[in-house]
Formats: sequence, structure tokens, C-alpha cells
Amino acid sequence: MGFRIAVDRDLCQGHGVCESEAPDVFEVPKHGTVEVLDEAPPEAQRAAVLNAVKYCPTHALSLVEED
Ligand code: SF4
Repeated sequence: MGFRIAVDRDLCQGHGVCESEAPDVFEVPKHGTVEVLDEAPPEAQRAAVLNAVKYCPTHALSLVEED
């Protein structure tokens, strides 16, 4: 069980909302697209990651459930 994060880099425009929502998981350089610091974060990060997915203005992020 657990989850991982999928990023569509063609959609990411570097807004940084994801970093604001989940700073332990996402890092967005001043110029560039998101870097995922932890592609399979612990369960404790789920709520923050879900907020990042929800509020990303370009819908570049998704949470993928793992068996
Ligand atoms: S919020 Fe979305 S568009 Fe902005 S940096 Fe994060 S993934 Fe990219």
C-alpha cells in the first residue's frame, strides 16, 4: 500500500503552488518545472500531496495508488 506521485512536465508551468502545499515533497526552482523530492512519500504526507494535486493550476500532478 501507499502512493506515488506522477507529474506531467508538459503541463507544469512552475507556479510553485505544490511547494507551498507540500514543501517536503515538491521543490520548484525560480525558473523551471517542479522537482519531486520524494516520489513515494510516507502516508503522513498524503493530505498535503492531495492539496498540491487539487490546487495545481495546470493539473500537472496526480496521486497514484500503489498496491
Ligand atoms: S503547482 Fe503545478 S504547475 Fe505549479 S510548479 Fe507545481 S506542478 Fe508545476
